[in-house]
Amino acid sequence: HVDNVEKIFGKKSENSFKALSGVSFDIYPGEFVGIMGPSGAGKTTLLNVVSTLDRALSGKIEIAGKNITMMKQNELADFRSTELGFIFQDFNLLENLTVYENISLPLSLQGVASRRIKPLVNQVAEKLGIKSILDKYPVTISGGQKQRAAAARALVHEPAIILADEPTGALDSKNARSLMETMEHLNKHHDVSIMLVTHDPLSASYCERILFIQDGTLYKELHRTEDQAAF
Ligand code: ADP
Ligand code: ADP
Repeated sequence: HVDNVEKIFGKKSENSFKALSGVSFDIYPGEFVGIMGPSGAGKTTLLNVVSTLDRALSGKIEIAGKNITMMKQNELADFRSTELGFIFQDFNLLENLTVYENISLPLSLQGVASRRIKPLVNQVAEKLGIKSILDKYPVTISGGQKQRAAAARALVHEPAIILADEPTGALDSKNARSLMETMEHLNKHHDVSIMLVTHDPLSASYCERILFIQDGTLYKELHRTEDQAAF
């Protein structure tokens, strides 16, 4: 639940830049929502304030019933590792860790005991069809397997919402499609909400609803069922 969020970069009035202004929207549980807009519109800034990586100047953001705008830094770190999943453009798999260790990272960071981690990792790996590569290092697996490993890591701690910033940005259309299918699968079968920032029409076509942003303001909303052609 995002209510009237404002974000200004820079302190002095002459250098300051209003990157978000009066931004309000809701993402419902299990909903797959895209944020689209031209370069410089404020998409990444919006994702960063929702993901608690950056602070809004004013307004309110609630995720899973918790008001993140009121949280202290140490609470935020804890909140991120329990309620948020991230999918990045380059997947950010750590090269010196195995696929298993990469996937288990959000749980180890939460201090979950390793005997409890194992069944959770095995379960998510099974669902995404990557059980056979758990012992491998990222450099030895295919691009598609890397995507699924990154998706497994975003999902393993059962977050309330997965946040993705241009995850298909560096992929060819075949791999982009496959990643979007994985995300659609996570959304449909694991009931996780997704907020996806993209300027790619192919990625947008997987979203149930698209919010359009320009100059830091949301100005339009489309639902897939009604407005399919407009995608
Ligand atoms: P998008 O993701 O839609 O391309 P961004 O959210 O990255 O847009 O940027 C929105 C606007 O805010 C741009 O004009 C950008 O130059 C500005 N901006 C982003 N980050 C900063 C920053 N750290 N300091 C100053 N301006 C910034
Ligand atoms: P067992 O409980 O029979 O000893 P293992 O410890 O061999 O089972 O682990 C079963 C599976 O779990 C392995 O195939 C492996 O993929 C995965 N696994 C468990 N721990 C790790 C780890 N630290 N690194 C990589 N894979 C692991």
